[in-house]
Amino acid sequence: MVLGGGPAGAVTAGLLSRAGVDVVVLEREIFPRFTLGESLTPGSVAVLDALDLGPVLEDRYLASHGVTLSCSRSGRTQRFAYDEAFTPVAAAGYQVPRADFDDLLLKTAVRFGATAHMACEVEDVLFEQGRARGVRARFRDGHTEGFLASVIVDATGRDTLIAARKGETHPLDGLDRGVLSAHFQRVNRHSAPAEGDTDIVLSPHGWVWNVPFDGEVNSVGAVCSAAWLAARGRGESLEAFFARTIDDAEAARTMLSAATRLTPVRAASQLAFSVEHLAGDGWVAVGDAAGFVDPLFSSGTHLAITGGAEAARVITDALGARDFSAARFDAYARRVSGARDLYLGAVRAFYSGDLSDEALDARGRAARQPFASLVAGDVMGDDPPWRAECRARWGLQSG
Ligand SMILES: Cc1cc2nc3c(=O)[nH]c(=O)nc-3n(C[C@H](O)[C@H](O)[C@H](O)COP(=O)(O)OP(=O)(O)OC[C@H]3O[C@@H](n4cnc5c(N)ncnc54)[C@H](O)[C@@H]3O)c2cc1C
Repeated sequence: MVLGGGPAGAVTAGLLSRAGVDVVVLEREIFPRFTLGESLTPGSVAVLDALDLGPVLEDRYLASHGVTLSCSRSGRTQRFAYDEAFTPVAAAGYQVPRADFDDLLLKTAVRFGATAHMACEVEDVLFEQGRARGVRARFRDGHTEGFLASVIVDATGRDTLIAARKGETHPLDGLDRGVLSAHFQRVNRHSAPAEGDTDIVLSPHGWVWNVPFDGEVNSVGAVCSAAWLAARGRGESLEAFFARTIDDAEAARTMLSAATRLTPVRAASQLAFSVEHLAGDGWVAVGDAAGFVDPLFSSGTHLAITGGAEAARVITDALGARDFSAARFDAYARRVSGARDLYLGAVRAFYSGDLSDEALDARGRAARQPFASLVAGDVMGDDPPWRAECRARWGLQSG
């Protein structure tokens, strides 16, 4: 049983269904619904290929072949092509409007045999002698229903249903950041081969993302320190504050010089958090339900998709062995926390200036490969030497 039909839930459900497992997905909303995290790494695309989605993605979304990093203060710019990564996994990433993409993923899971109940909010997970055995859910018409399952997958995103009920979610020290974002039309775009790139623009308040979609629309967001977000003037609208935030980052201001805002500005705070356990007896947490580091490097959507694949694998094994103890899910928890910790070290090094400086000055293959690998999503796996090197270089502090 999968709680939540975002990318983490849909990928887990799709791969389990494809392997012949009966899966029910309970999703609170009716899709399509808006959300952020609109850049897919090539590493994520490789997972989606296992759901036969490669041609659909190619047909539907703008391909991206790299990330362009620029610094407003120094004027330095560096482009990292995904194929500079240590182990290039797929030819391209994609820029995906999430309302459409999440709908596609969940429909794909259903096509492989999953049952999805929409507008169905899980109110509680039922535990028996410490083992998750089922859930109680409320449908939008008001009726409630109980469901039993061998394994519960918590893919409820930032709601972190299981961890929140246990009081096991915690903010990440030193990463108290929030975001302002909106969609725009007529943002100045790069020319080939960078036309689909995600821009990361260093700003005095953090950094700005610019994600171009197929057509004329771009997603632009400013990830800012809590201190800057608190500096919003009394009576200042979010729109005016966002414009002021962008104006302070010259490279972003230039990109948006002819742009028109299409949506209201959305704000979110306290983005980063960790959870104490990624799995327990009878349950596994996937995607944001297992913690969130930062929008940097598209790590949230990437860990949701690759984590979903890892979870599907370990659950299939558990079903084969009829063993749903926490120990069965250890390998999953280790691999996902390994990837998450790599991102965490890199994000901290980025904000301290070490990694961003190193990347902006990176010349030569050896210097460029670690950053290219991070942005390409080459982070999950059996710890080849480059990841150990990155951890040593950027530090590795969890929690
Ligand atoms: C402001 C902001 C900016 C972000 N920017 C980026 C970015 O630039 N790049 C990036 O990679 N990521 C970004 N992210 C993160 C990205 O959105 C997530 O990492 C990604 O969506 C995780 O996928 P998921 O499937 O785990 O969770 P979600 O996509 O959140 O899906 C969870 C689903 O669970 C459902 N649900 C929740 N509770 C219940 C319940 N009780 N019962 C039933 N269903 C439930 C929800 O309706 C939702 O559909 C951002 C996140 C935020 C908040």
